[in-house]
Amino acid sequence: MATRPRLRRRRRTKIIATIGPASSDEATLTRLFMAGADVFRLNFSHGTHEDHAARIALIRAIEARLDRPIGILADVQGPKLRVGAFIGGRTQLVAGEEFTLDLNPAPGDRRRVNLPHPEIIDAAGIGTNLLIDDGKLRLRVKRRTANALTTEILVGGPISDRKGVNVPDVMLSIPALTAKDRDDIAFALDHGVDCIGLSFVQRPEDVEQARALIAGRAWIMTKLEKPQALENLDAIIALSDAVMVARGDLGVELPPEEVPLAQKRIVRLARISGKPVVVATQMLESMINAPAPTRAEASDVATAVFDGADAVMLSAETASGQYPYEAVNMMDRIIARVEEDPSWRQSTNAARPAPDHNSSDAIAAAGRQIAETIGATAIAAFTTSGASALRVARERPACPVLAIAPDVKVARRLAFVWGAHAVVAPEASGMSEAVTRALRIAHVHGLAQHGDEIVVVAGLPFGVPGNTNSLRVARLK
Ligand code: PGA
Ligand code: MN
Repeated sequence: MATRPRLRRRRRTKIIATIGPASSDEATLTRLFMAGADVFRLNFSHGTHEDHAARIALIRAIEARLDRPIGILADVQGPKLRVGAFIGGRTQLVAGEEFTLDLNPAPGDRRRVNLPHPEIIDAAGIGTNLLIDDGKLRLRVKRRTANALTTEILVGGPISDRKGVNVPDVMLSIPALTAKDRDDIAFALDHGVDCIGLSFVQRPEDVEQARALIAGRAWIMTKLEKPQALENLDAIIALSDAVMVARGDLGVELPPEEVPLAQKRIVRLARISGKPVVVATQMLESMINAPAPTRAEASDVATAVFDGADAVMLSAETASGQYPYEAVNMMDRIIARVEEDPSWRQSTNAARPAPDHNSSDAIAAAGRQIAETIGATAIAAFTTSGASALRVARERPACPVLAIAPDVKVARRLAFVWGAHAVVAPEASGMSEAVTRALRIAHVHGLAQHGDEIVVVAGLPFGVPGNTNSLRVARLK
């Protein structure tokens, strides 16, 4: 078979790009994928089901045209508190003036806006602080009635439709999955998304509830953005398929100086459990309005790569910014540059968790070591559920992980996973057929040239998840 040009990334750390008004046409989505977006995130806090259905259809069309699996993350809003809409979509709040939040759904202006959460109005008292738009604006309650809070604007600035509201002073009794979340999850599963992002999780039971609802039809990515969740981190990671360091809300709920340490702790624990971990929010924030990032932002992306994240995420940069392509391209460049550096490889090796005591981890660890010793160009992992590819990726090998999965749904999920280049192909009937197939796929995908060696790992007999027990070294003739 002739070698076809294939979209093979030059980096291991993945990129998740949130899509929105700035990135919802086929040409832009294609450019973002080509520039490096491995996963597209749909933010269910914005847009209608029609918008999301159209975006999903476009992504699947691009996937079919380019013949590469693409991950789709449906991020549901959770019990996120938000203001309503404004006349003209936005206004400006001025420090020292009064601003009222009320239950009236009419569009707001600089004097008032809808706050469709009676539980805040009930729980707030005189002096309660309300933080808006990731804490950029700060209001303090001066007066309250049954239907409205009148506040003094302590820190003003621009405010626009449906900006988030955090109330760190008050404990609110709100359910983990709202009626909207259940509706959005049902819609997302009907449209075949690969992963559901759960917002504002506080307790392991919140994830359990979502597991019962989703029932394995998609991965669950728990967003860590509440201080309460950090107190239950081990149990929450154990119940999740993936986690996100959701620094936007986390950094509002926690003092800013706590966020870098929380990031490192979450990444470390997720790495030990072998669950994909995403570092998110404000990574290249200034690129919403500028074609180049600040030095601090470039450094932040590099830090997440050094910490060992599976993926880094863009939010408004690609959803509503002026430079979505440049943001993805810049992220790709920063990641690729870090991963070229010997210091990154050293720190990656130093942070490698020990294998669990089972044959799958023993084979994954041995495969990584053999690949390094002989300079193999890929570790091919036959993976039914994705689990064995995850265990190989957990080793952070020097060469790419060629994940060969019979099911496109598994291949798409592996788009979130460090180092995984997933290809859909049927299971083999035995190890020698598996080796032949892995060599051919590695060649077609540019992961092995004539004379190169690859390592092949598989579970025999095929089709039993999590039972990796065989390893072969093979040379492409
Ligand atoms: P959001 O989540 O963008 O849905 O708020 C990410 C974060 O809080 O960082
Ligand atoms: Mn959030």
